[in-house]
Amino acid sequence: MQTRPGKIVSSVLRGFRRILDFVFPQNCIACDGEIQVGKHFLCADCKADIGFIRQPFCFQCGVPADLSYAYPHEEFVCGVCRKNPYQFDQARSLGFYDTVLRTTIHHFKYRRQMGVLLEMDYLLEKYFEEDSGYCQGFTVAPVPLHFNKMKERGFDQAFLIARQVAKTLKLPLEGGMLRRVKATEPQATMTRTERARNIKGAFEVNRPELVSGKNILLIDDVFTTGATVNEAAKTLKKNGAGKVYVFTLGRVVVGKGVGL
Ligand SMILES: [Zn+2]
Ligand SMILES: [Zn+2]
Repeated sequence: MQTRPGKIVSSVLRGFRRILDFVFPQNCIACDGEIQVGKHFLCADCKADIGFIRQPFCFQCGVPADLSYAYPHEEFVCGVCRKNPYQFDQARSLGFYDTVLRTTIHHFKYRRQMGVLLEMDYLLEKYFEEDSGYCQGFTVAPVPLHFNKMKERGFDQAFLIARQVAKTLKLPLEGGMLRRVKATEPQATMTRTERARNIKGAFEVNRPELVSGKNILLIDDVFTTGATVNEAAKTLKKNGAGKVYVFTLGRVVVGKGVGL
């Protein structure tokens, strides 16, 4: 039988283990498989499962080309962009917002498992390895959260991604370029038109002189219909921004991903 102090010690140890498990999980956060404990959150298989989005994709919005069509050249523009062009000049995403990337994003967005960011950092470095000169001369800016959301969540995931993108591409980061002036409804079940209406007028620039004449790489976590980044890009362009490129970690592609 354990003595009283012994019980206290073992319950303290159990508690400590739980905290440790949360900070550095013992199993892969996506499939529960084995991982190298200490600095990884995903197993090698799950990591390999995050398919990077590479050419061919729409030159403007970055949607992967449907390979069942014979897409001709590198700068093809998809039907959506031809019919209803976005305000940003170009958008790219790291990977499909399918189960693994979705689980990973959710772990830091909703479960505040900040250590997962290490995995994100690794993925971003790997993604930009092929194109380390991407967006040279641009300033990196995150799509801001509304103050209430920020208060509720305690951190801003787009800012954290933007910080890592800036570090990886060796670009300046400007966290306070935009502010969110409108608390918007959750967009999960909305169509592209409904989302555009919902987000209209949601952003303002803080200091126009930070925007004017700058080429900007706008960062968000997930690109679903592009309504949010489009509205942010519109606001930046109205305030004199030069080129506005968009980069997101995840990309929802019909038939390939799941909505938020
Ligand atoms: Zn796994
Ligand atoms: Zn397109």
